[in-house]
Amino acid sequence: MPPFGDTARLTIDLDALGANWHKLAALAPQAQCAAVVKADAYGIGADRAGPALWRAGCRRFFVAHAEEALRLRATLPQAVIHALHGVPAGAEADFVAAGIAPVLSTPAQIERWRAEARRRETPLPAALQIDTGMNRLGLQPVEAEVLAADPGLLAGLDLQFVMSHLACADEPGHPLNEAQRERFAAWRKAFPALRGSLVNSAGIFLGPGFHHDILRPGIALYGSNPMRPDATPEHARAAMHEVVRLQGVVLQVRAVDSAQTVGYGASYRVEKPGRIATLAVGYADGLLRALSNRGRAAIRGRQGYVRVPFAGRVSMDLITLDVSALDETDCAPGALVDLLGGGVPLDEQAAHAGTIAYELLTDLGPRYARTYIGTGAGA
Ligand SMILES: *Cc1c(COP(=O)(O)O)cnc(C)c1O
Repeated sequence: MPPFGDTARLTIDLDALGANWHKLAALAPQAQCAAVVKADAYGIGADRAGPALWRAGCRRFFVAHAEEALRLRATLPQAVIHALHGVPAGAEADFVAAGIAPVLSTPAQIERWRAEARRRETPLPAALQIDTGMNRLGLQPVEAEVLAADPGLLAGLDLQFVMSHLACADEPGHPLNEAQRERFAAWRKAFPALRGSLVNSAGIFLGPGFHHDILRPGIALYGSNPMRPDATPEHARAAMHEVVRLQGVVLQVRAVDSAQTVGYGASYRVEKPGRIATLAVGYADGLLRALSNRGRAAIRGRQGYVRVPFAGRVSMDLITLDVSALDETDCAPGALVDLLGGGVPLDEQAAHAGTIAYELLTDLGPRYARTYIGTGAGA
């Protein structure tokens, strides 16, 4: 059942998504640009984002979980699909049937996928992940050394590439970047027959020495600048096309005077007579409670965009804005208010919430009426 009424609009621009993919691909023309569409394509909808990226030209996709990989296959019959978390015990037959290539990160996973290949007497596709300093997923160096010394331990696998993941790519000056780059280059030599994949979105902006053969951008595809705001000015070219726009609709406007407070905990104190607008979106919809008294919204008035502050705490299903700066006629019930995108860039709102765009996007709730515009090919 679609949501009733007009309380919030989530608009997802698939042409902007495609344009971002082209922009990233052009930064490393000798590499293949894949797309990371885990967590339902960072909240925007993998069953729409996947085909849009395919139309843009993307042929290789990464998700985290087995279920995500199997579901993505339904919308991308011809793509190469990798499950970053590997193949769970019991999912081997489903992976073979759907042609999923797991990223293998432990000796036990490698052994289990090889056993499946032996049973079927056919090589099975996979990638190998080696940890170079993130200490999260991937073969540990001692484990990878054993494999490099005895290639028979990988027999039966159709290994497509070796990969690793950068811990600090959004901080160009961080010494761990260079350390990981060197360690990964050494692993490439240990597995000379395999292609290499090292960079996420931010890593693409670290330069050609990091690119290797397969790029794995996620967040930049969805419109966030992957570099930290304090990264050097040359990284300003990381500015991406806006993909996500969330607009709330004003439900009610009330006059308040300076003796009053707004919302739970009475945390917003009215300083002078003004007006408060109430919108039917809250933390259940992904407007994090950390935005209480910190978030920003923007309303298009007759004099252009007017930015207004979140007033009081974000509640589960409602937020309140101090709209005293706007003409009464510009902010009446039914008025559209930018909450993400438009007058309030995604990265800016994330900073107000003390978090990153990744978290705001993946928290976008199920109650929005979603509208997809474009196809991905209209870049
Ligand atoms: C999520 C993820 C990516 C994509 O990272 P972004 O920062 O969103 O570009 C790439 N590689 C791995 C291993 C990941 O887990």
